[in-house]
This record gives sequence, structure tokens and C-alpha cells, in this order.
Amino acid sequence: MTGLRANLKRCLVAMVLLSLPGVLGACTVNPATGKQSFTAFMSPEKEKEVGRLEHVKIVKQFGGVYDEDELGAYVAIVGAKLSRYAELPDLSYTFTVLNDEKVNAFALPGGYVYITRGLLALVASEAEMAGVLAHEIGHVTARHTAQRYSATMATNIGLQVLGVIGSALGAPTGTGTLASFGAQAALQSYSREQELESDMLGVRYLARAGYDTNAMTGFFHKLQAHTRLMATMEGRDGGEQHSIMSTHPLTSERITAAKQQVAMVQASGNKQGARAYDDMIDGLLFGDDPKQGIRKGRVFEHPDLGIRFEVPSGFTMLNSSTQLLARNNDGVEIIFTMANADTFLKAGDVSKYLAAIRIDGTRFSGIETLDVNGMDAATGNTRVTKNGQSRDARLVVIREDNERAYQLLFLTPPKMAASMSTDLRRTTYSFRKMTRAEREAIKPLRIRLRTVKPGDTVESISARMPIETFAVEWFELLNGKSRSTPLNPGDVVRIVAE
Ligand code: ZN
Repeated sequence: MTGLRANLKRCLVAMVLLSLPGVLGACTVNPATGKQSFTAFMSPEKEKEVGRLEHVKIVKQFGGVYDEDELGAYVAIVGAKLSRYAELPDLSYTFTVLNDEKVNAFALPGGYVYITRGLLALVASEAEMAGVLAHEIGHVTARHTAQRYSATMATNIGLQVLGVIGSALGAPTGTGTLASFGAQAALQSYSREQELESDMLGVRYLARAGYDTNAMTGFFHKLQAHTRLMATMEGRDGGEQHSIMSTHPLTSERITAAKQQVAMVQASGNKQGARAYDDMIDGLLFGDDPKQGIRKGRVFEHPDLGIRFEVPSGFTMLNSSTQLLARNNDGVEIIFTMANADTFLKAGDVSKYLAAIRIDGTRFSGIETLDVNGMDAATGNTRVTKNGQSRDARLVVIREDNERAYQLLFLTPPKMAASMSTDLRRTTYSFRKMTRAEREAIKPLRIRLRTVKPGDTVESISARMPIETFAVEWFELLNGKSRSTPLNPGDVVRIVAE
């Protein structure tokens, strides 16, 4: 009730502040939430147009459409079923699986809903996947993007017309500029209230479509476990972080709220669809797409660049579109990137390039030339500060051709420098070109279903997965089982394999 009144007040304040012709009546009653919402600047037609234009950009930015017809069709069927129970059943939705290993889902205005393959790998059942889609449908039907867009517009216009609007007045605030509106706005976080509202709507649509509504909280627990594992892998504090799917409410808060919703809605069924879901993701790409380079055990291979190298044991590799970062528990880091192309072209060779660049404002000294498996290379060292800690920095630059060179940066706590030197040297000399046969033989990792045999344990199965660190944790996450759970022969589990 108070929420409703606050909303209405916010609407009225926005209208009064604007006092523009044609804006009266801009507070519409949302069909999904029954609340007054301020969406003056974005009509449903405009929403569709924005969605259509941004769709292409989003797909490109997130690794393209995951090329697996059957899975895409399955997601679309589940999504379409849910959307029939939403408040805008005539809106045509487009559901897209993105070829991105990160765990993410989001929606654009006009009914465009996205889910990554990274998220699909975690989901335990069709019901949990439906919960994620239903939450995103909730953002669409509650017209959260239209609200945000209109709030931003109101703030911008208000600032011009009235001078300064204090947010203390309860006027809508927004920091985005119109020029940057688009894909970015769709990815900006929603407010805490909007996230909880979408969770509420998600539970509602799950219930109407006959799914087990507890799937919503089931997925949030997965999300929490995944956030914890990523924090550990990246060497951050393992405490609860704001998750990718939302910045505002903590996942624990969403779980509590969703539980209350679940208790309130009348479920029409109890569908889980765990087995059907497992069959659908058998063979799902896991981790890197070879196009971005692929991590397998301690080896990093990049078939498009045609290079490979090996990191020392105990290093966790994190791959992104711009770098590969490998780190161990002692704070040693190896960062692989491309050399700056312009600087390299201007410098002409690896030694001059190394002399020309700076890191943390300092130059490299002690520059020596090397031969790394037939490639011209140079190395130099310096001392830098990273996150307040002193680090020995050694850079190895390896020439591919006149225009292209690779860089391996080794950051070592000074007291570890001596003990790590052999390992890091070995990594440097493991760097080599791949043969054509090797490039063609590269197979990505995939989720596979395995039947548990007598004597199998979580540990023994995990040990056979081609993951150097945290294999057991990944098994636990993919299967929703802990290592202390005994496995029963005949059970079907998800593993990571070629
Ligand atoms: Zn959300």
C-alpha cells in the first residue's frame, strides 16, 4: 500500500515539475503491478522500436547467438508458454540464448529476453530456467525500462526547465544521458524495488504456467553459490556480493521475499522438468568458445591466433575478450595480452617496443633478447604497485610478425621472485605456435551426462574433469550436490568433458 502511494506521489511530483503540455496523463496504471508508473517518454511502440534496434548490438556484444537450434527452440517454447500467462499476452516475445559463458539474463523493452549459455549450465531444471525467464518477462510487463527512460528524460528536461531538482523532493533521478541510452540502459541495474517486483511477477507466471514455484529460490541459491565460487577463483572476498543479475537487492534478500511470494500464490501444478532439462543441455558448450581461446587444465590454446602456452600448476585461468589472467594463491599473476599494435608497428621490433612502453608509469630495464621457440622475443623487468602491494613485474614480448606481438606479464610478490622464477621461465618457453593439425583438433569443453558407477565419488569424478583448479566446486555447482553427498550408482550427473 505504501509502495503504491509512494509511486503515485513520485508520478505527481514528476508531472508537476515538468508542467509540460501533453505530459498530463503520463502516469499510467501498469497492467502487471496495478501501480501508477511514470512512463511518459516511452510509449509501447517506442519500446518495440528500441528493442528491435538494440537487439542486433546486444547479440554482437555477448558472443552471438548460441548456435544450437534445439536448445534455442526449447528456451523459446518455455518462454512463450510463460508469456501467455503474463499481463501483456499479445506482445510478441523474442527469446535468445547468447554464446556467453558468463551467468547472465536480461531483457530489452519490447519483449526481447536473453539468457546466456553460462546461466543455462547452472540451472537445475526446466522450472528453474522458467523462473529466470519469468523474472525477465516481469521487467518487460512492469515496463521497468520505460520507467527508467522516462525518469532520465524527466530529470534532464527538469534540470533545464527548473534549474536543479533535488532528489530529496522525490523527483525521479537518473544519471544516464540520452545519447547513451540503448543497450547500456538495458544492462544498467534496476532499482531494488523493481528487482523484487520482477521476482514477484516471476513467481506469479511460474505458478500460472504450472511450474513448481520453489524453483525461483532454487535458482537464487545456485546464483549465490556461483557468485561465491567466482569470488574465490578471482581471489576476492567470498562474502555475499551483489550478483550479476541485479546490483540492488542482495540475493539473500530476494530469497526471503520470493519465499513469501511462493507461500501466497496458488500453484496450479508442480512441474520440475529436471530430466528433460538435463537431456537438453547434454553437450552444452562449457567455458570458453575456441574463438576466444580455450583453457584446458593448465594449457591455454588460441586456435585463431595459432598459439598455445602452459601455466604452472595451481594457477586458475580467467579468460576475457581482452586478456587471459592466471593467478595462484600466493598472489602471483600471469597476464597474457596482445601488444599494443600501433606502438609495436612504430617501434619496429620487440626490444624497442619494450623500451618504449611503461607500466604503472615506470619503464622496463635490463632488456634482453630471447628466442622463444623460433620467435623473436625480448624481456625486461621493473617494480610496480598493484592494489597497494609491491610486485616484481617481468614482461616478455614475443613477435608474431611486423604488425603483431604477444605479451606475457608476470607479477610476483618480491619475496616469491626466486622460488617462482623456474616456473615462470617454463611458462615463457611453453609459448609456441600451434600446428595446423593441432588447431583443427581443438575441441571445446562441454557439459556431458554420466551415469554414476559403483565406487564413484564426487571427488573421483571431478578429478577426471579437464579443469585445473576448483573442479570439485564446479561439479558441486553443476549438480547441486556437495562433496559429502554419496553418489548412487545409476544416478545421472553432469560432468565437464570434451
Ligand atoms: Zn532483474
